[in-house]
Amino acid sequence: MKINIAIDGPSAAGKSSVADRLAEKLCYVHLDTGSMYRAVAYLAQKHGFSLDDEEKIVAFLKETPMEVDPDGTIHVDGEALKEQLYGNEISLAASSVSALQGVREAMVEKQQEISAKKGYILDGRDIGTVVLKDAEVKIYLTASAEARAKRRTDQNLAKGLPGDYEKILQEIIRRDYQDTHRQHSPLRQAEDAVLVDSSDLTLDEVVEKILDLIKEKTEVL
Ligand code: C5P
Repeated sequence: MKINIAIDGPSAAGKSSVADRLAEKLCYVHLDTGSMYRAVAYLAQKHGFSLDDEEKIVAFLKETPMEVDPDGTIHVDGEALKEQLYGNEISLAASSVSALQGVREAMVEKQQEISAKKGYILDGRDIGTVVLKDAEVKIYLTASAEARAKRRTDQNLAKGLPGDYEKILQEIIRRDYQDTHRQHSPLRQAEDAVLVDSSDLTLDEVVEKILDLIKEKTEVL
């Protein structure tokens, strides 16, 4: 029997990489909900909407269908978006548009529609608390800001992107603040989520730990 798995946590905690590995091992689909907020930020910038203009952004989303492929590509407004969504500027812009209630409502509706059939791993900030309140397995994946900044710096350098540790650390701290202090669906651990601190764990160790939790749960289901 397939279940749904919710993974929440702060930026750069490794949610996406963990969710990708789990999806591969379990033959599930990974839906990266952050990429949907990134796509909204991309569209807002493309059309020159101010990032706090809720009315314009929500009206645009209402008349613009958005489809997400199982490989994570987002089809919207005549474009296929993937790599374009990952830059520092888009990250902060996504954090801003995700604070708008109307934007959240539209994205949550879409995410619930996509995952209704089960067999999904959703990662984000409000999955266990809002989107999939009834997910069979909920994980809150975190790590110290320093460990996350170090990982992001190494990833960037490996990709040939700028890797200034101090700058990346400050951005992570700023996004953590924005995501945990916003009025609507702030990032927090769901009461029934299991906390996994990945500061001193490798990706494989985190994946193994979560697979054990999934096995425990599915055995009793
Ligand atoms: O996970 P990622 O860093 O790609 O998300 C980009 C931004 O989108 C986050 O900083 C957060 O503000 C927002 N987000 C959210 N709710 C989600 C997923 C992401 O508010 N479920």
